[in-house]
Amino acid sequence: MAKDIVTRFAPSPTGFLHIGGARTALFNWLFAKHAGGKMLLRIEDTDRARSTQEAVDAIMDGLSWLGLDWDGEPISQFSRLDRHKEAVEAMLANGSAYRCYSTPEEVDAMREKARAEGRPPRYDGTWRNKDASEAPDGVDPVIRLKAPEDGETVVDDMVQGRVVIPNKDLDDFVLMRSDGTPTYMLAVVVDDHDMAVTHIIRGVDHLTNAARQTLIFKALGWDVPAMAHIPLIHGPDGAKLSKRHGATGAEAYRAMGYLPQAMRNYLARLGWSHGDEEIMALSDMIKWFGMDAVGQSAARFDFKKLENLNGHYMRATEDAELLDHWKVYLAHADGGKDVLAWMADAKNAATALTALPGLKERAKTLVELTESASYLWRPRPLDTDEKADKILNDDAKAILGDLHAVLEGVSGWAAEPLETAVKAYAEQKELKLGKVAQPLRAALTGRGTSPGIYDVLIALGRDESLARIHDQAAKS
Ligand code: GLU
Repeated sequence: MAKDIVTRFAPSPTGFLHIGGARTALFNWLFAKHAGGKMLLRIEDTDRARSTQEAVDAIMDGLSWLGLDWDGEPISQFSRLDRHKEAVEAMLANGSAYRCYSTPEEVDAMREKARAEGRPPRYDGTWRNKDASEAPDGVDPVIRLKAPEDGETVVDDMVQGRVVIPNKDLDDFVLMRSDGTPTYMLAVVVDDHDMAVTHIIRGVDHLTNAARQTLIFKALGWDVPAMAHIPLIHGPDGAKLSKRHGATGAEAYRAMGYLPQAMRNYLARLGWSHGDEEIMALSDMIKWFGMDAVGQSAARFDFKKLENLNGHYMRATEDAELLDHWKVYLAHADGGKDVLAWMADAKNAATALTALPGLKERAKTLVELTESASYLWRPRPLDTDEKADKILNDDAKAILGDLHAVLEGVSGWAAEPLETAVKAYAEQKELKLGKVAQPLRAALTGRGTSPGIYDVLIALGRDESLARIHDQAAKS
């Protein structure tokens, strides 16, 4: 029977969830889901000085926001110290590792010498064949891998193809430091084995580690998992994605008002494709995902494309679901708490829901949506922007005075009778509809642009609409 597919996402908790990490997690998740397997989460927290609980929380929060769940409890690498030590003991016992008593100064000197002779700077294997009896007193040794000196190590990568590394280029690297802590290289292998990981999917920057880790798997007599090293994400200018290009953390995209489903769709397409499909339902992504369609060249992050995709998802998302995402956004946005407090009133939440169809048509992000929805909760008398001020001249005020009377007489506050009444008024005064709609818009929203004017009238309701029109008509 084929082994169950197990992937893992293995972030180091030293900051937020990097957008590259989010994409790695997504690929692991899609690969596992596609195969009906599992994705595990391993927190690589062995660097005690740099790892923080805050970062662990931020990573999990980012994954959850993106809808990427993991199977079982997250595993702390640090908590597995004893198991790592056990593995090193096993390697010492089977002769695939040895104690090295060279001092850091001696190792530096070896590297210097190699460099001077034009060789790669490496440990020279001094303690490889020495007897334990030669060990100096009072020196805590490091433990090194007895790496093969000849031949080659092959990484049969699902994305990078067959990568061959001559063993002479892989030196006797350290598995355990002199203070008894395992190195990253060793811990990853022991954990991947114990977690029964079948597929290691991660950034191509780990490809050189892959060869070293392959040697450890073999030294322990363990199966080497399949590997897929995915290309990195670059900025629009082709350089590795960094702060310079803008936000690099998943939470920053939430704060910029992107929807998780848009982000997921966008990240999936960074390095992977399925024909020309740009917009993919999650179920299709799962169905179609495979490493064969992951390219080798770096993917470029295109902010414009993400924004357009987000606009699509804003329009396509059901109002009630969009309202939920909006609330999540507001909970993290500057000033969002005030809007949430307003929404906490059931009447206002209903108003927001009524206004959403009109709002979402025009907004590419939840930031824009919030701005154009602000007419709903801004207090009377409404503040006005420059465009609205320009519209609200004396002629406009006169029109608003008329409209107040016209609208007050409309029976049934619904789009159709309201539209009929406004149109009839425009005709009677021989005014273009825009000449009437613009002051109305400015009075109701305080802005020169807004959702459809009848949507606004309905969302605000009769009393509030009439009061706002009166405020502007009467303003001196
Ligand atoms: N902890 C490593 C990182 O955050 C990943 C290690 C791995 O996937 O093997 O880059």
